[in-house]
Amino acid sequence: MIQLKSPREIETMARGGAILAETLEYLTGFVQPGISTGELDRLGDAFIRQKGGVPSFLGQYGFPRSLCISVNEEIVHGIPSEQRILKSGDLVKLDCGVIFEGMYTDSAISVPVGTLSPEVTRLSDVTRRALMAGLKAATPDNHVGDIGAAVQAVVETAGFNIVKELVGHGVGFAVHEEPQVPNHGKPKRGRKLEPGLVIAIEPMVNLGSPRTRTLPDKWTVVSADKSPSSHWEHTVAITPDGPRVLTTTAGVPSLV
Ligand code: MG
Ligand code: MG
Repeated sequence: MIQLKSPREIETMARGGAILAETLEYLTGFVQPGISTGELDRLGDAFIRQKGGVPSFLGQYGFPRSLCISVNEEIVHGIPSEQRILKSGDLVKLDCGVIFEGMYTDSAISVPVGTLSPEVTRLSDVTRRALMAGLKAATPDNHVGDIGAAVQAVVETAGFNIVKELVGHGVGFAVHEEPQVPNHGKPKRGRKLEPGLVIAIEPMVNLGSPRTRTLPDKWTVVSADKSPSSHWEHTVAITPDGPRVLTTTAGVPSLV
C-alpha cells in the first residue's frame, strides 16, 4: 500500500533531510586516507543526534551501526568497522537515514579518498548525473518507469552497468515503503506519480558486471566481479510544481 504524505509531513521530512544533508557534508570533511569507516560512523551518529535526529539504520532489520559505509566493490550495506581503514584511491559510499519528528529520509553520496583513478571518477560522476536525471523525471505527469528510463539512459550511454537487483523505494513513515523504484524502465510504465508521493531514488552503478553477491556477514552487497561501484541517493517529494529534493540544505525545489 502506498501512503501519500501531506504537505505538512513533507515539510517535516525536509527538516530531517536537511540534517541528513548536513551530516553527509560534515562527514565528507573527514574522509581521507587513514580514517576508519567505524570512526566515520561514530562521527555521523553523534552529529545526527546533536542536530535532533535519530539514525534510522541502527537496528533496522538488525543492522548494527548507524550508517551503511561501503568501499570500492562494495555496492551497499557495508558495515562500518574500526578495522576498515580508508586509503588513497578508494571510493567510499556514505549511505545514511535520519528519523526526525517521526519522519524518515534517506540519502547517499560517493566520496573519493585521496586521488581516484580517472575511470572511477567518471563512474561516480555518471552515477550522480543519473540520479539528477531521475530526480528531474519525478513529476506528477510521469510514471515510475520514466524515472528508471532517465537513470538508465545516462548510465548506459556512458557505458556502465546498472545494478538491477537493488532498487529505490518509497520513504517517509518507514525506512522502506512501496513503491519500488527501479533504476531501469520504460517511459509511461509502472505506477503513476502523484503529488504527496515521496521516494528515494538511488542509482547503483558498477564499472564491470552488474551482478551482485552478498558477503558472509549477510549484509555487504558487492559486485560479483569485484569491480568498483558508485551509489548516489536523494529523497524526493513529488509536488504539483514538480520534484522537491528533501535531502538538501537548500530547502527549495532544487536539484542539488
Ligand atoms: Mg540509502
Ligand atoms: Mg534507500
